[in-house]
Amino acid sequence: MRLPFSALARRTVSTAASRVLSPSGVIAAGVLLILFTCGLCAWVLFESRNDAYNHAEENARNLMLVIERDIARNIELYDLSLQAVVDGVTDPQVMALPQKLRSGLLFDRAASGKYLGSIFVMNERGDIILDSQFIPTRVGNFADRDYFTIHRDNSNVGLFISKPYASRLRNGALTIALSRRIVNPDGSFGGVVVGTLSVDYFRALLNGLSVGEHGTAAVIETNGTMITRLPYDPKVVGRNIRSAPVFIRAMATNEGAFTGTASIDGIRRLYVYKHLSGLPIIVDVAPAESDIYAEWQRRVWRLAIVMAVFSAILGAGSLLLSRELMRRQRAESKLQHLARTDALTGLSNRGTFDETLRKECQQANRTGRPLSLLFVDIDQFKAYNDYYGHQAGDDVLRAVAQCIALCIRRPADHVARYGGEEFVVTLPDTDATGATNIAETIRHAVFDLDIEHAQSPYGRVTASIGVVTSQGRAIYDSAVLVKMADSALYEAKSTGRNRICEASCV
Ligand code: GH3
Ligand code: MG
Ligand code: MG
Repeated sequence: MRLPFSALARRTVSTAASRVLSPSGVIAAGVLLILFTCGLCAWVLFESRNDAYNHAEENARNLMLVIERDIARNIELYDLSLQAVVDGVTDPQVMALPQKLRSGLLFDRAASGKYLGSIFVMNERGDIILDSQFIPTRVGNFADRDYFTIHRDNSNVGLFISKPYASRLRNGALTIALSRRIVNPDGSFGGVVVGTLSVDYFRALLNGLSVGEHGTAAVIETNGTMITRLPYDPKVVGRNIRSAPVFIRAMATNEGAFTGTASIDGIRRLYVYKHLSGLPIIVDVAPAESDIYAEWQRRVWRLAIVMAVFSAILGAGSLLLSRELMRRQRAESKLQHLARTDALTGLSNRGTFDETLRKECQQANRTGRPLSLLFVDIDQFKAYNDYYGHQAGDDVLRAVAQCIALCIRRPADHVARYGGEEFVVTLPDTDATGATNIAETIRHAVFDLDIEHAQSPYGRVTASIGVVTSQGRAIYDSAVLVKMADSALYEAKSTGRNRICEASCV
């Protein structure tokens, strides 16, 4: 029969509810809930870790952009000044002007910023021939400097940015030089124009940037020379980090982000870097992983504690609930058992017998198989009680009950106390011959118990049995079968007791 959808849904819900509300179901539900909550927390933490990383990267990129723009703009302006000087010194008309006028024309004010030093013009031997700040020109030869030799030996360097060096003209202050080649009209090397820029410019630029407690920011030349680094350390300025893994990775692409360990201090950081366009300079901003994830780690601890407490409460709650359900289930099944059992003999009671017989009748009707019923009654039991006492009578009832139960072999066979000193045995799939055999076995077994009964003509406790068998006919009312077995029993009683009597087949 097909159930309507709502009834089906109701049944599914109630089946699921009864499964969950079982002792093992409650534990499984508790474990699942804990796993689900832990999974959810892990997922949220994973997402927030990614957020922390992305936020740090974005922040670093913004800082880097500020540094990049400042450096690019200042160097571009300075370079324009140098190019103007290169153009001027190669113009004979300019060079023919009086020295003061010529200096005013060649060295504009753009090159007089706070961190900018003098602009020098050097001839092809490295001697200073023009000086933006001093007239007469200071004397010096710088043919040994890299900003000179590079242009002397190569014609197409463009703007060269030197390594940081201690300036001889500025009391040893750390300086980098920017130089451009002067080309004679015949194409030969005519010297260099050099502008100096204090490393303090970069230091001031990075100073105060918010890169976290263990974070860094650095300006590095593409040849590996460190121009400056935040936090500032004079020992690091000018150091070559060409072989450092972090630098090697930063040289691979024009810009990017990666996590790596700094060779300078061994701290793991997120490096966000960029090569400044047209300049041999890399800028990087590198917040430390420990700073990036500090707040996240605190959150992990807080959540872990909350989850541990939650799991412990939920786990303990599930266990307690499961134990309580188990206790109730046991009590319920005990009650059910008691409701179905006869307290004196331990056999099934009358109610259970009625139910069993009804089911077996239906089964027999369906299959057409035989069904037999035995009605066992202890003979002259009233007299036994009167003579030996009620207590002894109870003992006999227990002994006979056990005896009958032991005579039954098949699992489907069923013994019950019908009431008083009467017992019923239901024998499914058993024909009249089989039923008579079993009845005879029971009668013999009771007789063999050899319980003294002074009031009985047999001198011992005996039983009479009425047997009825339904063979291949529909039994519409199981009470009919009982009535017939009872009639057969009456027959056995009236013909002398301690015997069996068969009812005619129904
Ligand atoms: P018959 O041979 O015709 O069966 O005679 P009877 O005395 O066995 O039958 P009767 O129906 O007259 O008496 C049954 C007696 O069984 C009555 C009662 O004293 C006794 N009896 C019924 N239930 C119990 C019980 O639970 N315990 C005890 N000790 N005796 C019971
Ligand atoms: Mg009786
Ligand atoms: Mg009796």
